[in-house]
Amino acid sequence: MILDHDVVVLGAGLAGMRAGLEAARNGVNVAIVSKVHPVRSHSGAAQGGINAALGAGDSWEIHAFDTIKGSDYLADQDAVEVMTSEAPQDIIELEHMGVIFYRNDEGKLGTRAFGGASKARTYFVGDITGQALLYTLYDQTLKSGVKVYEEWFATALYMVDGACRGVVCIDMMTGELNLLRAKAVIIASGGMGRVYEPSTNALICTGDGIALAYRAGAPLMDMEMVQYHPTTLKGSGFLMTEAARGEGAYLLNRDGERFMQRYAPKMMELASRDVVSRAETIEIAEGRGIDGNVLLDLRHLGRDVIMSKLPQIHEIALDFLGIDMVTDPVPVRPGMHYIMGGVRTDTDGATPIPGLYAAGECACVSVHGGNRLGANSLLDTLVFGRRSGLASSAYVKTVAAIASGEEFLAAEQRRIAALMTRPYAGETHARLRLELGMLMDAKVGVYRDEAGLQEALAGVEQLKRRYQSVAVGDKSRVYNQALTFVLELGYMLDCAEATVHGAITRKESRGAQSRTDYPQRNDADWLKHVVLRYQDGQPPSIDYLPVTITKWPPQERTY
Ligand SMILES: Cc1cc2nc3c(=O)[nH]c(=O)nc-3n(C[C@H](O)[C@H](O)[C@H](O)COP(=O)(O)OP(=O)(O)OC[C@H]3O[C@@H](n4cnc5c(N)ncnc54)[C@H](O)[C@@H]3O)c2cc1C
Repeated sequence: MILDHDVVVLGAGLAGMRAGLEAARNGVNVAIVSKVHPVRSHSGAAQGGINAALGAGDSWEIHAFDTIKGSDYLADQDAVEVMTSEAPQDIIELEHMGVIFYRNDEGKLGTRAFGGASKARTYFVGDITGQALLYTLYDQTLKSGVKVYEEWFATALYMVDGACRGVVCIDMMTGELNLLRAKAVIIASGGMGRVYEPSTNALICTGDGIALAYRAGAPLMDMEMVQYHPTTLKGSGFLMTEAARGEGAYLLNRDGERFMQRYAPKMMELASRDVVSRAETIEIAEGRGIDGNVLLDLRHLGRDVIMSKLPQIHEIALDFLGIDMVTDPVPVRPGMHYIMGGVRTDTDGATPIPGLYAAGECACVSVHGGNRLGANSLLDTLVFGRRSGLASSAYVKTVAAIASGEEFLAAEQRRIAALMTRPYAGETHARLRLELGMLMDAKVGVYRDEAGLQEALAGVEQLKRRYQSVAVGDKSRVYNQALTFVLELGYMLDCAEATVHGAITRKESRGAQSRTDYPQRNDADWLKHVVLRYQDGQPPSIDYLPVTITKWPPQERTY
């Protein structure tokens, strides 16, 4: 079936729904597709909060400086200015839409402190901020009349004369392939956390839209910048929100020492994430950890604060480790959490490909540079979701409808049918996915070096070859998750390869890229973005873009 819309949004997380809502407000016909029900998008897992400089004594310029310093000066400052100056109005709008933000004793919107921020500017709903935002935006999406194709899985972008004209999706309930034909497509498909194992990300965060855009010719930028969050739960890797430290929790080593005093004497536990993750990794490597972890100690906060402001992580620690954080410290370690890189866009979400936009975690605008500050990602999804919705809806008014697409859809149907009938040759998607995740965690994690990265590259290339013989175990049509897992693995391998190439290319340490063989930041040679373009059957082509500096020249970064 071919269905027509003006704007099709790939993804129903915060970025996708905010984009769809704005495009609909601008009077165009909008559809959103999502491989899961919208409120199961990973945005719903966000715990800690969302940043904006709204309070007395704060300003968007201070927020911008904190963000740029946090990025280790790799963020484009014009983009950061847009995000931080537009943040306050977006928070107020969310509150007017119905988000029940925390209110302080005066009855006003209250904040909590977050890492790398010089002011307490994180607005929150307990430790379920993402869920509160996502449900509210879903309400608004339904009200706006945007068509939502839920449990539709995107397999290809439809390109016509170099422009993006739609998305082919499997309707998972029937197994049927459909083309959503469009005048513009906004990729809002989220991150690729599961390229690493373990990760704080949901199992669905597999980089699908990043790989689809990359294959369609869109450049990827800053892919080497992968954030490890300092506090992920021992074993399962679940996130223990930074809000715990924002509320005052300590990090302790095996000697009971608040070791951050040796790494970031001013900001201590609230230094930026790359800094804290490196400190923990050193403590553990030098024998001051406990069984590969350090301790997150909340006991001094007391039961009331924990149960009123951090009830979800209290429950997670209890369920998964049997630890009550009111009475005992919780073992945590750095774990893969977020990607700063993604599909390169301008501040309107536009990629260099006509009709192709991107917003949210899959995009690189770039506002996070080498390291994202906590609570700046939800903000990024909303500001740039809104802006890409607006820009794409203006663009589609200049574009004529087309009648083609039958042949492309038929070719895509044949490709998927061939995949379904591929005989079993001993490889399963599950094994390859686990091997990929463990390889990336071991070799492309907090610390990296040339030898390890070359091993990672060889490993990823080998996994790509083995992927060619992975069979789909389930041959049925209805909810065939074996098929979508295999397709996801293909996307993940493309993302992994781009990440490794980016990390090999950048021969310095900056933000989340810490190379033991190039331990210093090197502004003379590397104050620039690494840009990758897909080349079929070959390594990506590599290019550079300058970093936009407006008001804040690079300085030494201390916390
Ligand atoms: C545990 C956790 C806690 C976090 N806490 C915070 C926080 O407190 N503050 C903060 O600022 N940030 C936080 N983050 C980061 C932030 O939540 C994410 O970066 C952000 O929510 C991503 O939103 P998104 O809209 O870009 O993507 P997502 O919310 O991940 O949505 C992606 C959408 O794309 C769809 N999709 C993907 N592939 C396909 C496909 N092939 N076909 C169809 N649909 C597809 C999915 O179904 C989904 O609807 C946290 C992240 C995690 C993992």
